[in-house]
Amino acid sequence: MVLDGIPGRVEKNYPLKQLTTWKIGGTAELAYWPRTLRDLRAARQRAAAAKVPVWLVGKGSNLLLPDEGLPGITLVTTQMRSIHWEDCTVRVEAGYPLARLAQEAGERGWSGLEFARGIPGSVGGAVIMNAGAHGGEIASLLERVSALTPDGTIRTFERREIEFGYRSCSLRGKVWIAEACLRFFPGDRAKILHTMQENLKRRSLNQPLEVPNAGSVFRNPPGDSAGRLIEAAGWKGKSIGGAQVSDKHANFIINTGEAKASDVLALIAEIQKDVQQKYGLALQTEIEYLGGNENQATK
Ligand SMILES: Cc1cc2nc3c(=O)[nH]c(=O)nc-3n(C[C@H](O)[C@H](O)[C@H](O)COP(=O)(O)OP(=O)(O)OC[C@H]3O[C@@H](n4cnc5c(N)ncnc54)[C@H](O)[C@@H]3O)c2cc1C
Repeated sequence: MVLDGIPGRVEKNYPLKQLTTWKIGGTAELAYWPRTLRDLRAARQRAAAAKVPVWLVGKGSNLLLPDEGLPGITLVTTQMRSIHWEDCTVRVEAGYPLARLAQEAGERGWSGLEFARGIPGSVGGAVIMNAGAHGGEIASLLERVSALTPDGTIRTFERREIEFGYRSCSLRGKVWIAEACLRFFPGDRAKILHTMQENLKRRSLNQPLEVPNAGSVFRNPPGDSAGRLIEAAGWKGKSIGGAQVSDKHANFIINTGEAKASDVLALIAEIQKDVQQKYGLALQTEIEYLGGNENQATK
């Protein structure tokens, strides 16, 4: 087997449902949890030598995984979680939970990640998506990242070398982020922690956090909100199979129990068609369907 003897957890025919917040998908031929950059690099080298595709997953909170499963290696970064604080900067590995980092920064009195307390992604996934909320985004704290490049070398990218936009980062699909360095701002500890609690409260009031979902499914079109358009078009509560547009927030699609990726894709397509017809707007997805395109894998 391609990963024989590699350090870290390896599972055959692993249920993809367990790797995403949507709890949807077939099985991974092989799932692998590297613990260090060295493991990550070794997996990449082995996969390249064996010409096996590799699919990179963080905390799976922005991903739809296919019913047919994923061939090759599904590489999950969540065991890469070392962290080093130095004054107001932190060096943190890609698999570290973003929300935990936000909480820890707040407890130290460092401001900047208040927006992130309710975002269930990893640090690596957050950089790649330029995760943001409540007017903040991770790009504004980032100093640099270390990443594994397609030729197997480890490179540092300074902030100025990376382009960020609304939920976009120029490194997406090009490198595997291993570590990020973030710089915080001095703040008032009590105020930072209070802001986080308020943000969390707002989320639990407005988002269907009690059921499996993947956050906002569509990007907001310039000057408008995808949720508002979908609600106005009458989609709240409508479903296809086990996928349902949330009653609480129309830009969330929930898994009512046994949703298939094909149900979610069909619902997305119907919403896009309807919103286009009614308002002349082409809604773009924010979530990513991994496995829908062979080019998303590293070979
Ligand atoms: C309830 C809920 C609320 C949410 N709220 C918000 C919000 O307010 N704001 C927001 O921006 N997002 C939000 N999200 C979406 C999601 O949490 C973010 O996009 C998050 O940054 C994704 O991180 P992840 O680790 O889960 O990435 P994944 O979903 O695992 O992966 C997303 C993409 O990043 C790639 N990737 C992951 N790790 C790496 C890495 N180390 N190197 C290179 N590529 C990598 C994957 O291949 C994939 O293409 C929400 C999601 C949920 C479920």
